[in-house]
Amino acid sequence: MKIEPYSDNIIFYDSEFSSLDPYKGEILSIGLVKMNGEELYLELEYDGEVNPWVKKNILPILKEPKISREEAKKRIREFIGKKEPYFVGYINQFDTIYWYKLFGVDNHPAYWIPIDFASILFGLGIDPEAYNHQDKKNFYKELGIDVSKYREHNALDDAKLLKEVYLKFYGSIDKIMPK
Ligand SMILES: [Mg+2]
Repeated sequence: MKIEPYSDNIIFYDSEFSSLDPYKGEILSIGLVKMNGEELYLELEYDGEVNPWVKKNILPILKEPKISREEAKKRIREFIGKKEPYFVGYINQFDTIYWYKLFGVDNHPAYWIPIDFASILFGLGIDPEAYNHQDKKNFYKELGIDVSKYREHNALDDAKLLKEVYLKFYGSIDKIMPK
């Protein structure tokens, strides 16, 4: 099966955040990967409330120096540039909301319509939950991807994995590389 994307101006992204409750959640780490392979990974300062699951599973694996939210915004803007890319994430609703909470809705550097890879899978007749590190439905096996090389819940690895999966669906890397 192949994806025929509308645009190749895209950036893969993933974030880990403090809660699934949109009123409380804030970004703790973010990973961005461009089509040309350039990547950015940041961990943000945060001292607010953290969901118990996040405390147990995410906080221990955040090992980089933490930067302020202002610094994070600056580095993300520099990385993205002026092209306003489509952001492609897997189950992107939380990432998107917390992205808006970080930047503000009117002043963030991505195109205003984010693309959800779970919805793409759904539209192709694939269970969106097949995209899962445990690979119970042999999703990665069938794609020929070694998912074990990606650290689960690491935002950069999640974004890199999404890129690898996306390109498998796309069929040809040559077609999708920025001109
Ligand atoms: Mg993730």
